[in-house]
Amino acid sequence: MSFPLDLQFALIDDDTGELVAFILPEFPDHAPDEMREGLVRRRLAALHGRCPCDAPMVLPNRAERRRARTEHELRVRVDHHPECPGDDHNIAAALARWER
Ligand SMILES: [Zn+2]
Repeated sequence: MSFPLDLQFALIDDDTGELVAFILPEFPDHAPDEMREGLVRRRLAALHGRCPCDAPMVLPNRAERRRARTEHELRVRVDHHPECPGDDHNIAAALARWER
């Protein structure tokens, strides 16, 4: 199964609201540096709760978790600095350049 490189999800206990696990994309061996740096920063944000660009990780709130029960996905939000390689737009752009 291939998992989109620009997505990351959280698995959260329905009753307690506690974080159980993260679902992160597999790290591609031959990705260009900008892609690797972006993915590393996203993993650091997941592990430490904050990206090196100083953006905090925001877990889905109760309403978002309730909606996710029907949508089967729960996205983690990190509002990266616009120039951070881990930012959604920068990851997507790096991915598009790599796949071209
Ligand atoms: Zn960042």
